[in-house]
Amino acid sequence: MRLLLATRNEHKRREFARLLPGIEVDSLPDDVELGPEDGDSFEEHALQKARAAALATGRASIADDSGICAAALGGAPGVRSARYAGEGASDQENLEKLLREAPAGSALEYVCALAYVDPVSGVERMLEGRCSGRLAERPRGERGFGYDPAFLPDDESGGVTMAQLSDERKDEISHRGRAARALLDWLTAG
Ligand code: IMP
Repeated sequence: MRLLLATRNEHKRREFARLLPGIEVDSLPDDVELGPEDGDSFEEHALQKARAAALATGRASIADDSGICAAALGGAPGVRSARYAGEGASDQENLEKLLREAPAGSALEYVCALAYVDPVSGVERMLEGRCSGRLAERPRGERGFGYDPAFLPDDESGGVTMAQLSDERKDEISHRGRAARALLDWLTAG
């Protein structure tokens, strides 16, 4: 099976290729426009991107949208995670803002919405994965990206951050890993 992943991010394509064994994951052709991410939910963004890719190429497409939600901030930054500290903000700036605004030890959740759209059969499906954790006092670890150095997953003990885990361990517990396995289960059951 081949699926088109509606992203221009090669890091993300490789991550999904690893998470979806047995499926060829192709990247988006350069001429396909995905449109602005101006909705209010992860699901809306993921579906928008998967539909745009499927419509433009005629191929079964998947797209994900993800972010981090802080309980102390009423769920923020949520869908605005990539630009929390402003348009074009770096991962470091976003992370520093979260550490300033939410208390250490407060509850966090990574969320991933993963949309599947087949333009031939008209089948659309939404899968979701979540990963709960707590905010670290200060960043630790060199792996991962984004908020990982300040995210203490509930599935780990001893103050280990997501940025200290191997790719394999992150895949087991992460929001994207869980959403990808839900997609794989659904595709192979159908
Ligand atoms: P998007 O799904 O590419 O729009 O990602 C949204 C933003 O959420 C990223 O830029 C990161 O700031 C954050 N994010 C999503 N998933 C992760 C993760 O696994 N680790 C760290 N940050 C993440």
